[in-house]
Amino acid sequence: MSKKKPRLKARKFLFGDSRPNQGTQNGPVKARPPTPQAAAAAAEAQREPRLFPDAVAASAEFLDTYEWRRVRMQALKKYGAKCMCCGATPATGAVMNVDHIRPRRLFPELALDINNLQVLCHECNHGKGNWDMTDWREIAMSGVG
Ligand SMILES: [Zn+2]
Repeated sequence: MSKKKPRLKARKFLFGDSRPNQGTQNGPVKARPPTPQAAAAAAEAQREPRLFPDAVAASAEFLDTYEWRRVRMQALKKYGAKCMCCGATPATGAVMNVDHIRPRRLFPELALDINNLQVLCHECNHGKGNWDMTDWREIAMSGVG
């Protein structure tokens, strides 16, 4: 017959007790959620540190922050000031943009992640828009040597 286990409240597991489960060897596990304070502290500790709240990362003022300008420069140094889509450079009259592959508005947590950045010229960046998440880096790197 089907032995129905009592359903443990899933919500309590969201806070994930990462300790080895001590109940398994000695019989049925009794879920013992930590105190709310301990659970909150553990959840906080697991979170990636965020420099900005999402609302700031998605806002226009984000582009004026030191943190953005710094990671933007790192991207330009890493990839060079050359459009990864069309190859335009400042020497050919292009204005370079550092673009978020995954747009800030949809992925604010990636706003300062250099791995989410690519260098595009102004025209390519504007043509791209928030709907297109093409990662031009792979294409630029694997394409014409
Ligand atoms: Zn371009």
